[in-house]
Amino acid sequence: MTVLLGCIADDFTGGTDLAGMLVKSGMRTVHLIGVPQDPIDLGENIDAVVIALKSRTTPVAEAVAESLAALCWLQQAGCRQFYFKYCSTFDSTPGGNIGPVAEALMHALDSRFTIACPAFPANGRTIYKGHLFVGDLLLSESGMRHHPLTPMTDSSLVRVLQAQIKGKVGLTEYSTVLKGEDAIRARFKALQAAGYNFAVVDALSNDDLMSIGAACTDLALVTAGSGLALGLPQNFRRAGVLADDQVADSLPPTGGLRAVIAGSCSLATQGQVRAMREVHPSFHIDPFELARGRDVPGAALDWAASRIKDGPLLIYATAMPEALQAVHALLGAERAGRLVEEALAAIARGLVEQGVGKLIVAGGETSGAVVLALGVRGLRIGPEIDPGVPWTTAISNDTVKRPLALALKSGNFGTPDFFLKAWSKLAS
Ligand code: ADP
Repeated sequence: MTVLLGCIADDFTGGTDLAGMLVKSGMRTVHLIGVPQDPIDLGENIDAVVIALKSRTTPVAEAVAESLAALCWLQQAGCRQFYFKYCSTFDSTPGGNIGPVAEALMHALDSRFTIACPAFPANGRTIYKGHLFVGDLLLSESGMRHHPLTPMTDSSLVRVLQAQIKGKVGLTEYSTVLKGEDAIRARFKALQAAGYNFAVVDALSNDDLMSIGAACTDLALVTAGSGLALGLPQNFRRAGVLADDQVADSLPPTGGLRAVIAGSCSLATQGQVRAMREVHPSFHIDPFELARGRDVPGAALDWAASRIKDGPLLIYATAMPEALQAVHALLGAERAGRLVEEALAAIARGLVEQGVGKLIVAGGETSGAVVLALGVRGLRIGPEIDPGVPWTTAISNDTVKRPLALALKSGNFGTPDFFLKAWSKLAS
């Protein structure tokens, strides 16, 4: 197997975001959770791999070591080009981690020049004269200036990046970007000849990202937000290694029974739970029962066993704000959250043992707990159900014996009929 593009994302949701963009741009993509420690079967015909790390705010040395391990894995998978993905608001501190990680990756690749381009115009992240804008505001005037871990108080990406690295940071201005691919490439060459190692690149639109992407063919490494993913696949098409009409989001049929697990209390999930309860069997998880030490997962799984063959069912902890307040007052938010997550994770395992092959999980933390309990190491990205929520198939160790389709839904995503309509987007 030869993967074309190897990506390292500095957090999990960033990895999801990038993987989704690559699939939309026609690359069949796997999203791995951390660097695989054992041999792993990614499946057939993969064009891009995204390894998601948790390296955004870890100590610099740790972030560098993890990123280099990810690079090594991707090199062994045969990747031709590498992509270090960070947040579109360039989340970092004066010490790093974007700069030191990028420099370490360049060193390992024996590369002396790369770009820095967090622009994501569709989400209002644009760069002009090297300054990053969030909507109408400079980065330094946006909410990011108060971020608890990575406060961004300077909008000049040239200055911010320069403070983090040993090499030299230059700028490719919008006037050059507007002239297109050849002008951008010439500017990169000129900067390189003048001893610069990084070019912050201005970008205001998706067309700009296409031109910038086209000018990156010769770079071993690019560093960017997920927006640049729009502009890279065309290079592989031009090189004849990616088909023009590649369908990237089809998944192998998984078969199996259907279930929804909801651990999110967000507004969107509340509506989705309501809609599902009206037409399908549902089981409510009570945190007070869990706190009393009752075997709630056992009861839920007994309840499911007699119904699961008849159609999709729902197991949910989702509570309205007043009920949630009462739980928090008596159990504490952290303890209640942990009890519910553990219970839902155990239920997910039990449901898969009962033959569930298509599972929707609602809630970010809840999804993390379920993925861990099922031993999921990665996700092959499939068709989108609603913006930002694709079906995936699990790549796992042997906890999951049969193919498993997973939809991991962030609490506030999706239309009210999400749990009802999602199944039709999957081959049976
Ligand atoms: P979201 O994506 O909506 O933020 P998460 O799964 O990330 O959802 O977070 C929801 C948190 O609330 C989880 O820790 C979950 O265990 C917890 N939770 C869910 N239901 C309840 C409940 N009824 N009482 C207390 N905590 C709950």
